[in-house]
Amino acid sequence: MTHYVCLGECGGVSEHPGICTAEPCSHHGKPLEPCECQDAEHKQQEDEE
Ligand SMILES: [Zn+2]
Ligand SMILES: [Zn+2]
Repeated sequence: MTHYVCLGECGGVSEHPGICTAEPCSHHGKPLEPCECQDAEHKQQEDEE
């Protein structure tokens, strides 16, 4: 199921849309990206061989 992850180094994950709230993170204040992985690795693979 869809979850939302920060693409910065904080590695934040949320079940709901939002923004990164980790101050030191380079993505602080930026929207979390939707992710539908099922292995919790959050690798957004666009094409897998
Ligand atoms: Zn972050
Ligand atoms: Zn994921």
